[in-house]
Amino acid sequence: MGIRYTEEYPEVKGALSFDMEKTLFYEQTPFQKIEIVETPGFGRVLIIDGFIMLTEKDEFVYHEMIAHVPLYVHPNPQRVLVIGGGDGGTVRECLRHKSVAHVDLVDIDEAVSRACLEFMPTVADKLLSERVTCRFEDGVAFVKNCKEKYDVIIIDSTDPISVGEGLFSPEFYQDCYNLLTDDGILVNQSESPSWLPELVRGIYLKLNKLFPKMFFFNAHIPTYPSGHWAFGFASKKYHPVEDFQLEKCLADNLDFRYYNADIHRAAFALPSFFREILRETE
Ligand code: SAM
Repeated sequence: MGIRYTEEYPEVKGALSFDMEKTLFYEQTPFQKIEIVETPGFGRVLIIDGFIMLTEKDEFVYHEMIAHVPLYVHPNPQRVLVIGGGDGGTVRECLRHKSVAHVDLVDIDEAVSRACLEFMPTVADKLLSERVTCRFEDGVAFVKNCKEKYDVIIIDSTDPISVGEGLFSPEFYQDCYNLLTDDGILVNQSESPSWLPELVRGIYLKLNKLFPKMFFFNAHIPTYPSGHWAFGFASKKYHPVEDFQLEKCLADNLDFRYYNADIHRAAFALPSFFREILRETE
């Protein structure tokens, strides 16, 4: 057995351990500790502050779901804002939509993009596209001061600790709401309903108060805590299933590895315990 990397799961007093071959990138920035390690089982893995952000083996699940679900509900998404997501995976998926004229990416830490461009080019290289503007600043301050409007805002954040905490606050959600067009959609990574129900309930309460339509959708991400992951879908106008652009999705015929029309609809079906988490708040 080689060197072992262990991600601690304090919420269940457990851990995920995997073999690693070597560290390709290590930097303690003013914001966080960033590592990229080479592993035999998961390919290259991006780790921030000891938590897996993505692995080459299963990053497609997270990035396809966080991007294509809102982009196949909005009938004509042209301007997209990604908060966090400095690895570039979400931007890569957004650019596959012809209607998307421009993506603004706002990540607090340029070192994440620098590291991924060097060591994970298949994830990051679309950050260099002419259709993308990367800004390295705090997303909380950006949305407060921004004067632009967006059709879709995607919050591709770290966990709600340290620099990521503000990306889960009611004030931040309000500022995002203000930046959205009248039919805009916000999607955010919403952690694990299996292991962090209180956190997911908190996200629901805050977004449900602001937006006329608020739903969650699920995906199976093997290397995230519990493997069961939620995304919030908060919308000013469109329903995520009734307004799903099926024809467009089928006509585009993109080569997806996880997302497809059936998954789009099925992802909004919540397990009973997940429904219960939300019902308790009503
Ligand atoms: N897929 C990942 C996950 O859920 O584990 C998220 C990946 S992405 C690397 C998260 C990014 O959020 C990091 O690059 C981090 O720098 C960025 N981030 C954290 N706090 C931020 C803030 N306040 N403003 C902008 N970006 C932030």
